[in-house]
Amino acid sequence: MKRVRVLVVDDEENIRLLFKEELEEEDYEVETASNGMEALEKIKGLPFDVVVLDIKMPVMDGIQTLNAIKNINKDQPVILCSAYGEFKQDLSSWVSDGYVVKSADTRELKETIKEILSR
Ligand SMILES: [Mg+2]
Repeated sequence: MKRVRVLVVDDEENIRLLFKEELEEEDYEVETASNGMEALEKIKGLPFDVVVLDIKMPVMDGIQTLNAIKNINKDQPVILCSAYGEFKQDLSSWVSDGYVVKSADTRELKETIKEILSR
């Protein structure tokens, strides 16, 4: 059976490592990118089932990256992930498929990924 591919995009290395490790425990195939540009390059290469995208990143923030991803493939599922709860209400985040508050406890992230995969 084909493994589910997840791309984790975050400028913080500790978050990339944590999410990669946690999501690999769910038997997902996980790749990481440290910024939006790198993420777009990876997405143009092989497809991902879900992209987990940090909002606060230098160079190209998560909202810009989200819009660029959706321009490439509007059906690409993207989960926005940020420590900043106010983004939940931000209208510019409406095109994302899910939203999770960044936490060392990855249960919400895992549940959101499962929910998206079941759609
Ligand atoms: Mg960040």
